[in-house]
Amino acid sequence: MRIGIDIDDTIADTNEMLEAYAGIYDKLYKEGHGIVDKNCYKFNGMYDWSEEDRLDFFKTYMVEVLENVEVKDYVVDVIKKLRQEGNEIIFITTRDGDYIEDCYKLTKTWLDEKNVEYDMIIAGDKRKSDYADSLKFDLFIDDSIKNCTKVSEKGIDVLLFDTKYNRYNKDFKRVKNWQEIYEYIHDMKK
Ligand SMILES: [Mg+2]
Repeated sequence: MRIGIDIDDTIADTNEMLEAYAGIYDKLYKEGHGIVDKNCYKFNGMYDWSEEDRLDFFKTYMVEVLENVEVKDYVVDVIKKLRQEGNEIIFITTRDGDYIEDCYKLTKTWLDEKNVEYDMIIAGDKRKSDYADSLKFDLFIDDSIKNCTKVSEKGIDVLLFDTKYNRYNKDFKRVKNWQEIYEYIHDMKK
């Protein structure tokens, strides 16, 4: 099978790390009022920041976060096993923004450092569903409802990786960890 996989909040704990850095930014660069609305998805809402602050925060810390973010549990072993079993792994990440100079290089360096195996990396491109279609993905895994919706419209099976901000959605099969994904893929082949 050819499996397309998102990176941030699918194999990496990106939002968790961004939240930690937002707390630091708030203290160092803002007045340090702390979190004002913990349920707000956007940082200028969660914190007492303007849209400009939010962009400045990303500009200040995004690269550092993406270079150092932790891999989720079981990812390294499950991906390795899936490749050994003949599956093709394609990581596909958008990671847009002026603050990232070379999205491909940053992503490749991180995957290699973390010992995450892959067959191909597509980085810095918003057109995930076009790639999913033209590369004939058999399965696509992402935490973004928007991406899952667009890819499933191409007739491709999708798994929605569980995050606290996509829990209202009931449209897709939800997976909570990489052991569960491994089992799902095995059941698919039966
Ligand atoms: Mg993501």
